[in-house]
Amino acid sequence: MALPLPAISPETAAFWTGGAHGALQIMACNACDHRIHPPQLICPQCLSRDVAPIAASGQGTIYSYTINHQPWIPDLKVPYALVIVDLDDQPGVRMTAMLETNDLGEIAIGAPVTVDFEHRGDVYVPFFRLG
Ligand SMILES: [Zn+2]
Repeated sequence: MALPLPAISPETAAFWTGGAHGALQIMACNACDHRIHPPQLICPQCLSRDVAPIAASGQGTIYSYTINHQPWIPDLKVPYALVIVDLDDQPGVRMTAMLETNDLGEIAIGAPVTVDFEHRGDVYVPFFRLG
């Protein structure tokens, strides 16, 4: 994929490294059970600082997608698909990531997807596969 790697911060560390254990880590508020994504250390719903990452199933449904044909940076392989996924067991969480497939024509709104991880440097970049 060759996209630049993210910087790891205290709020994003679990998200970017959870793939080491095969887990998609989503921040959750212990005070009100709100799911927080992108990850933050303060709940935007109740302002509690009692937040911690939890493991999501990694199963989801495509809410929307786009196929990119423009190589915005050197060595970026095109075309590629970006998807916005509703995570099945994390109500209200929509996650944007790349989708890996050999047939971009198979991508459809409503299609089920499963998370996987690409290990690069210190991070495990989540992406999705169909199915
Ligand atoms: Zn909260």
